[in-house]
Amino acid sequence: MKFGMRKPSIKKSIKARTSGKLKRKAKKAINPFYGKKGVGFVKNPIKSIKNSIYHKTTFGVSDLVKKTSSKKSNSKSASRTNISSSNPKAMLNKANHIANTLNTTTNPQKFFESIDEFRTFMPQLTPFYETRQIKGLSIASQLNKFNNMLPDEINKFIERYYEKVNVKILNLKTEKAKIKELESFFQNLKYYNSYMFEKNISLYEKLYNDAIDKYNFRLRKANYIFCNFCGKQIKNDSIFCIYCGKKV
Ligand SMILES: [Zn+2]
Repeated sequence: MKFGMRKPSIKKSIKARTSGKLKRKAKKAINPFYGKKGVGFVKNPIKSIKNSIYHKTTFGVSDLVKKTSSKKSNSKSASRTNISSSNPKAMLNKANHIANTLNTTTNPQKFFESIDEFRTFMPQLTPFYETRQIKGLSIASQLNKFNNMLPDEINKFIERYYEKVNVKILNLKTEKAKIKELESFFQNLKYYNSYMFEKNISLYEKLYNDAIDKYNFRLRKANYIFCNFCGKQIKNDSIFCIYCGKKV
């Protein structure tokens, strides 16, 4: 993260337009979700937080820089704000850390705890929002954005976690160990149901059920029961078994 005055660079601005474009194209080819609507998530809110701090700390000859490199300081406005007492660098690190966790972790505890962390972190940024008016930005609007993006982002986390579990299952030798791995996927997510939306719960239940079918595990699917007559798995609200036709 940069502090200090922003220097316009022609080289960089050309590079951003050319190599940036290629990089985006490459990313798009690898990641089908890249650049699609509703994908930015924490990248967006955090980015705007970072930008707002960046603008705050770098706008003109910044108070922060004057304060941190006080040898150079000879400005009357050095004491105009109290940014340095809020420690923007630490806040940026924290913002980065939370964003990174939310975007990359495959650990349910870390992911869901980061949601709480983000919500408690945002109000701490109030001084940055108050000392400089940022058009269209407020803590409330940032949190709103975050909350709106959450259902999709939780689904992305679930898919990421599921992928990791699948890799583990493929590398495990015994069926017992494989089943244990898949069961913990289900239980670990279920533990955080209170954080989730309907679409999140139905996604991980579906993935869990799909995996049982895919690996042919002898494991009861979510929202399924075993037919008392033929032993096949049928939906728990079935009236008749779709396999043997008997009344459940
Ligand atoms: Zn049956």
